[in-house]
Amino acid sequence: QDAQDETTIDVTASAPLITVTDVKVNVSMAEAAQKAYATGADGVGLLRTEHMMLATGIVPYKFIDEGREDELVNVLVENILKVVDVFYPKTVWYRTLDAPTDEFKTLEGGENEPDEANPMLGWRGIRRELDQPDILKAEFKAIKKLLDEGYTNIGVMLPLLHKPEELRRAKEIARSVGLEPHKDIDFGMMVETPASAIIIEDFIAEGLDFVSFGTNDLTQYTLALDRNNELVAKHYTEAHPAVLKLLMSVIEKCKAAGVTTSICGQAGSKPEIVEKLVEAGIDSISANTDAVPTIRKLVAKVEKKIMLEAAKKALKGN
Ligand code: PEP
Ligand code: MG
Repeated sequence: QDAQDETTIDVTASAPLITVTDVKVNVSMAEAAQKAYATGADGVGLLRTEHMMLATGIVPYKFIDEGREDELVNVLVENILKVVDVFYPKTVWYRTLDAPTDEFKTLEGGENEPDEANPMLGWRGIRRELDQPDILKAEFKAIKKLLDEGYTNIGVMLPLLHKPEELRRAKEIARSVGLEPHKDIDFGMMVETPASAIIIEDFIAEGLDFVSFGTNDLTQYTLALDRNNELVAKHYTEAHPAVLKLLMSVIEKCKAAGVTTSICGQAGSKPEIVEKLVEAGIDSISANTDAVPTIRKLVAKVEKKIMLEAAKKALKGN
C-alpha cells in the first residue's frame, strides 16, 4: 500500500506556473503592494511615483518651493519602503516623477502649476526633472537612504527621454548625492518617445542596464494621437505596424548589447502583442495586478509553443 502511494502522481494538483520570461507587476499606490505581491509577480516593472504622491495629496514642487526638501525625501522613503520591503529581494523599478502639469493642478498647493495647451507634449518626465533638479535629487537621496538600509532591490527608471544627454545629466545628479549608477544601482529608461526608440543605440552607448517600453506614450507619439482624446480613441492601437516595428528593433539592438528589455505600458496586457514580444525574446512583461495571472498563463502558452517548435525542428534535424 505504502509503495503504491509513493508512485501515485496527483494529476489534480496544479504546480505554480514558471515562465522563462519574467512577469512583473505595475504598482501605483504603496498600499497596493501586498496585493500586487500576492500575484506571484517576479518584481515591480513600474512603480509610478506621481500616483503615490497624488494619492497622498503631496505636491512635490511645493515642498521644494518652501525649502522642505528633507521632508520630501522622508515622504518618498516612507512610500517607496512599503513597496521594496514587501517585494524584497525581488526588484522594484522606481520610475522618477512623471506627472503632466494638469495632474497636480487640482490639489491644494498645485495652483501654481503652469497652464499648458498640451500637457502631454509639455513639461513632464525627465524634461521637467532636469529643469527642477531638486526633485530628482530628493528622489535619488530617498533611494540612497533605502539602499544604505539594505534594500538593494531598487532600480531607477527615467521617463520620457528623447536624447542621450538627458540620461547623462540624470546620472550626474545621481552621483552628486552619492549614488553611483550601474554600480550601486541598476539604471534604466522608459522607451516611450519614437526618438528614443529610433536612436536607442546612442542611449546604449551612454550606459544602460535596462529599458522598458512605455507603449501608452510610445503609441500616442508614434501615431500623433492624444491618448486622452476620446474623439480619436478609435484610431489608438499599439498593434499599428509602426509601433511594433519600433518595439522589435529596440529589442533586437538591446539584446545584441546585453541590455535587459521589458514593457510596462498597457500593451503588455494585450495577448496579440505579448505573443510578439515573447517571440522576440523580451526579458519581462509588467502588467497591472489584475492582469498578472492571465499574462503569466499567456506567456507560458507562447513559450510552450516556441519550445515545441524548436524541439520538433531539432528532432527532425532541420
Ligand atoms: C506608458 O507610457 O506606457 C507608461 C507606462 O507610462 P504612463 O502610462 O505612466 O505614462
Ligand atoms: Mg508614459
